[in-house]
Amino acid sequence: MTELAGNTQHIIELIYLVASALFILALKWMNTPATARRGILAGEIGMVLAIGGTLLQHGIVDYKWIAIALVVGSGIGVPLGLVQMTAVPQRTALSHAFGAFCVTLVGTAEFYLGTPSIPGFKMSVLCVEVILGGLTVTGSLMAAGKLQEVLPQRPITYKGQNFVNLALLASTAIIAIYLVRNPGATHLYPVMVGIALVVGVMLVIPIGGADMPTVISLLNSYAGLSAAAMGFVLNNKLLIVAGALDGSSGFILSVIMSKAMNRSFTNVVFGAFGQVAPAAAGAQEARPVKSASPEEAAGILAAASKVVIVPGYGMAVAQAQHKVRELYDVLSKRGIDVRFAIHPVAGRMPGHMNVLLAEADVPYDRLMEMDDINGDFPQTDVSLIIGANDVTNPAAKTDQSSPIYGMPVLDVEKSHTVMVIKRSMNPGFAGIDNPLYYMDQTLMLFGDAKVFVSNIVKELSSTHS
Ligand code: NAP
Repeated sequence: MTELAGNTQHIIELIYLVASALFILALKWMNTPATARRGILAGEIGMVLAIGGTLLQHGIVDYKWIAIALVVGSGIGVPLGLVQMTAVPQRTALSHAFGAFCVTLVGTAEFYLGTPSIPGFKMSVLCVEVILGGLTVTGSLMAAGKLQEVLPQRPITYKGQNFVNLALLASTAIIAIYLVRNPGATHLYPVMVGIALVVGVMLVIPIGGADMPTVISLLNSYAGLSAAAMGFVLNNKLLIVAGALDGSSGFILSVIMSKAMNRSFTNVVFGAFGQVAPAAAGAQEARPVKSASPEEAAGILAAASKVVIVPGYGMAVAQAQHKVRELYDVLSKRGIDVRFAIHPVAGRMPGHMNVLLAEADVPYDRLMEMDDINGDFPQTDVSLIIGANDVTNPAAKTDQSSPIYGMPVLDVEKSHTVMVIKRSMNPGFAGIDNPLYYMDQTLMLFGDAKVFVSNIVKELSSTHS
């Protein structure tokens, strides 16, 4: 019997090792669009192995509750996986909240099972686990609510906010230290978890909707670290590896996003950042813009030899990526050099444009990152902006009073002609006007992205040969 248990344990360890390797490979392969699908498959297989290995644990005496939890979890997870791609940031925030809730519950169960004789190391990692887990639960729920607009997007700030937040965090740390020395102080445990839950809310309320995805990525990192701490508590190596990978990749992504949006990372970590700067100007007076029809736009594109397409959030909303691919095809067939300029925060989540264009089978080698293409705009005949706004706003470079001042943007205004497809003069995510639209070389193409691109393709296919 013990030999059988020993053999099973070896098999579980082996399964966990393979799962850990697959998680690492998944992250590596997700690095480029060409291998991203393989990366996702590797991650999925790794997760199935991890769950399968865990189900083999000899400590499990009854599978009934596990089966019920699996059914309930799948019942929630499957519909969550079907949301529109534009809602993925809030969906991701919800997943973090669930994961962190689970970590906090497991930590709590371990505490009450082990108290009053929990060894010092185990109690310290348990405290890290539930503090990070607790604040991630409420922080992620707040973030999801703000992004889904069920909570006000507006940052809520007050004097001394950072002090209050730090004081709350410090009080959880003090209780944690006390609990490590006196693990029998059961009355203090709920106080510590309760304060952690409050900290999650307090950290997210001062952050505006615009910065929420960076915060979600940071909460992802916290959730990963709390899972790694849970790995130490449960003595589970796979959880330590997976949690550490999650924690570090979330952290790296937050740093990349902060840089791309020109936010101070320290402010993200300590909260109370992202306050909306006072608007640069009061009410905007109507200024004249030049507009053009699909026929005129097709004529201009047909006469170009170098075209750069700049996709943005509007392309995603309109689901115009397949029409954009058709446009790429007709222009390329004419010998026109067409490339895509991908801003790191175009759309509403990292990699948003890459995913959509890959879905439409646009060749990966045509997608250029901002730093690689910015120098080429002066030699570009036409920059065609499709539902992008903030990522092309030259005010980010020139207007110190602009809320996006300092954010790196695509230098589209340097191209000979700029054409912008959008439905109106309404601003984008940052809520600010774009001086690009009033420049001499700019033509506004008013309409829905999918319909307008489709009309340009029709025009190019029929008349301009
Ligand atoms: P954007 O500045 O939000 O502008 C999108 C534009 O698309 C809008 O001006 C809108 O104008 C237009 N649009 C909407 N629906 C359309 C439709 N059906 N057809 C045609 N146009 C449509 O988008 P962006 O340039 O991609 O910039 C992304 C913004 O999101 C940045 O401010 C970035 O900081 C922020 N952000 C990004 C991430 C990320 O990870 N990617 C995360 C957080 C925040 P009309 O209403 O006039 O059509």
